[in-house]
Amino acid sequence: MRLIRLVPAAALSTATAAGLLLSALPASAATYPADLASPTTAGRPVSHEHSTTVTAAEGRVPLSQSSNTSTSYRFLIPGNPPGRWNPCATLTYKVNLNGVSSTELTRIKSAAVVRASALGGVHLNYAGTTTAVPQRVDDVGTSKASVVLAFATPGTAKGKSRLLPGGSTAGVGGFGLQSVPNDSRIMRGYAGAAVFGKNHVRTMTTARRSSLYLHELGHVFGLDHVSYKGSIMYPTDLGVTKLSTGDKTGFNKLGKAAGCLSNASAVTPSLASSGTSLKVTWPAASATSGRPTYRIELSLKDGSSLSLGPTTATSTTVPLTRLLDLAYQPDPSTPLTVTAQVTTSNSVSSKAGGKTSFTLPKAVQGAPASASFDFTTGQLVMTAPRWTVSGVRLPVTWWIDGSVKCHQPDGASTGRSGYLGVVWDDETSTSLSLPVDCDSVDLAADMEISGTASTTPVVHLEKTFIRPGTAG
Ligand SMILES: [Zn+2]
Repeated sequence: MRLIRLVPAAALSTATAAGLLLSALPASAATYPADLASPTTAGRPVSHEHSTTVTAAEGRVPLSQSSNTSTSYRFLIPGNPPGRWNPCATLTYKVNLNGVSSTELTRIKSAAVVRASALGGVHLNYAGTTTAVPQRVDDVGTSKASVVLAFATPGTAKGKSRLLPGGSTAGVGGFGLQSVPNDSRIMRGYAGAAVFGKNHVRTMTTARRSSLYLHELGHVFGLDHVSYKGSIMYPTDLGVTKLSTGDKTGFNKLGKAAGCLSNASAVTPSLASSGTSLKVTWPAASATSGRPTYRIELSLKDGSSLSLGPTTATSTTVPLTRLLDLAYQPDPSTPLTVTAQVTTSNSVSSKAGGKTSFTLPKAVQGAPASASFDFTTGQLVMTAPRWTVSGVRLPVTWWIDGSVKCHQPDGASTGRSGYLGVVWDDETSTSLSLPVDCDSVDLAADMEISGTASTTPVVHLEKTFIRPGTAG
């Protein structure tokens, strides 16, 4: 808010009291005089009205103390970092001249250029005129602009603005902020507005008009008042049109030099097998606020998944065994396909990137080449070579289906058929033994050993085994 200097300050305190302005706002607008409440509620938008009078402003900024030097600056939303716009985004502004001469538009554009420059080359683009008249500092109406700057008179009728308290107040500026998803301490602007008193502007000198625009744009971009008279942010318009050292420092801390407040960009991984591992790589995320971290999600068709990270690296390797262990109930007839997705995070937000699927090559999937049956030790022993891939033992499932019939010397026989033995997920065994207490065995069986991705050819056997030492 900026007041015209000629009006005696003593006469202003009632006419432009903050309470009057705030009570006139719609109940749905969460507004805070910056010095009375710290709007750090996560996920909730707040808007800041610079709505105090000269008297109140001077009351909370002791003139003789901290903010009265050429290096002084203050923020509307103090904090580390202070509430600000994302300086890496392109912001647009529209102007509602409301019958005021287009010369004022030229002056506003000049002020905007000064502001953009002070913020470190922020993209603050003029996007034309609008008929929107902001009623809150985050009210840009249907303008589709980030910021609306409007000339108006105080009031609630069409074309008037409730933002202007009347009396000596020549302008009001501010912006609405919202905490970012990943860090409630970071408040980011989403809309801003300034309203200039149409009738005040007509009576003001050229220098004071420019000063007014610079001052309210200062509020729109997050600066609060200081009590140094050489600052653009001095609450009373003294016609200052040159930024003080403090103004520059303050803007520097709100602009590009303080880093972006943009979302982490999405990245899509690529996958490749490498020896006994699967290697996942992804490009570095760009345009992020703070150093990005990554989480990697590997998933299989059956819904099983493995989460890795967070990491600041841009690749990771996953041992094949760990990956194959993922499979909940492997289907030997289907090649193993892994899907990877990388989620990037920074202090502003998280973003999941595209998914990439990868089918492990046959060489990686592997399979034992042969299997055999034996009865030489009095036990029925079913053997298969150890199933390894590049030295890594893989979990396997034994599957033996058939019938076994024992013959005793007295001619009696016992037997069973069906699954003769099944061992799940065995990485170490190379054989399976079934005790058989009989002299000879008629065996008719199929043996199959399955891994996560492929299966041995079925070994079929029909044979009569004679127990060692038994006369055949
Ligand atoms: Zn002000």
